[in-house]
Amino acid sequence: MDSEIYVTKASLPALEEYIEEIRELFSSCRITNMGKKHSDLTAALKEFLGTENLVLLSNGHMSLELTLQAMDLKGEVITTPFTFASTTHAIVRSGLTPVFCDIREDDYTIDPEKIEALITERTSAILPVHVYGNVCAVEQIESIAKKHDLKVIYDAAHSFGVSYKGVGIGNFGDASVFSFHATKVFNTIEGGAVSVKDPVLAEKIRQLSNFGILCEDQVAACGCNAKMNEFSAAMGICNLRHFEQNREERKRLWIQYSEELAEIPGIIVSVIPDETNYNYAYYPIRVIENEYGISRDELAAVLRSENVNPRRYFYPLTSDYSCYRGMFHSDSTPAAQRAAQEILTLPLYPGLGSDQVSRICSIIWGACHFSKREDGVPVTFPKGG
Ligand SMILES: *Cc1c(COP(=O)(O)O)cnc(C)c1O
Repeated sequence: MDSEIYVTKASLPALEEYIEEIRELFSSCRITNMGKKHSDLTAALKEFLGTENLVLLSNGHMSLELTLQAMDLKGEVITTPFTFASTTHAIVRSGLTPVFCDIREDDYTIDPEKIEALITERTSAILPVHVYGNVCAVEQIESIAKKHDLKVIYDAAHSFGVSYKGVGIGNFGDASVFSFHATKVFNTIEGGAVSVKDPVLAEKIRQLSNFGILCEDQVAACGCNAKMNEFSAAMGICNLRHFEQNREERKRLWIQYSEELAEIPGIIVSVIPDETNYNYAYYPIRVIENEYGISRDELAAVLRSENVNPRRYFYPLTSDYSCYRGMFHSDSTPAAQRAAQEILTLPLYPGLGSDQVSRICSIIWGACHFSKREDGVPVTFPKGG
């Protein structure tokens, strides 16, 4: 029996490398509150991401919440429901109202053509998501935001290491939030960061992450605790050394999926976005049931029966969560609804073998009575035939 393959696997450095990195923590005993590892990682990430103001935090979610708090936003925030729980929860937990905009069919990011119709006098910001590392329509979004005087906060949790037209992804909008969770392309075990244009705002976020404390006897804001600890920062320092090598490995497997799945009727493969230095974070496919023969969920079940565990990133839409029942109408985002029904994210991580990718692709070929003829042309057999 083949062992279980999961959708991702945390990248870890060699144990010895990590031990070397944390050794000094055992003599200094300074293990949190913006110590040496914290400042070393901040400097390394600023350089790597090409950003001026970067605040290192305990996770991506708190980075979103503290950014919203520091901006002192009110009213409505235009966002998308095709995302992880965190994006929508951060808006709601900040006392703001999410207004859901539909997504583009080709890259699953917010549809810039549909934003303006949702703007009201209560709108204060736009919070788009660079889904799967695909870059949002940053130029169009910027001009809409300028015209209507709105803040733009990007959920860049999927897009670490991505650059667009040679510009690091953290440089678009007023702020970009990263997640360094174990399942992301770059991890600090748990962790996150926000890259912001305005240095004053960066300082405010930093203070909020430490209870709003200014100095010993002054507390300037109602903050919380969202500091990254030294062991996490040390993990980040190690993992950053291997990021480019991991990106290459992901790229190889990513391209292999595209090639081996290319000819299957009803399976839409991923494409590398234009003018982007991509991070190959995920490999989503789209299953068009009436062409492929079985649904996305049926294909997922077939894969699971072969010990392959894909994930439905993202299903359900956040606007359909039971905690938001009766509050939103997902009918207003039909493209997002279709994506949530049809997308399946396949296993992809450094260390996944190319033989395993081939096996996964042949399960997808075999799941639906397709076979490849000698000349490579696919043949469809009727279901049950
Ligand atoms: C992972 C993720 C987050 C939250 O990050 P954490 O570090 O897990 O708190 C937010 N948004 C998106 C799109 C994510 O994938």
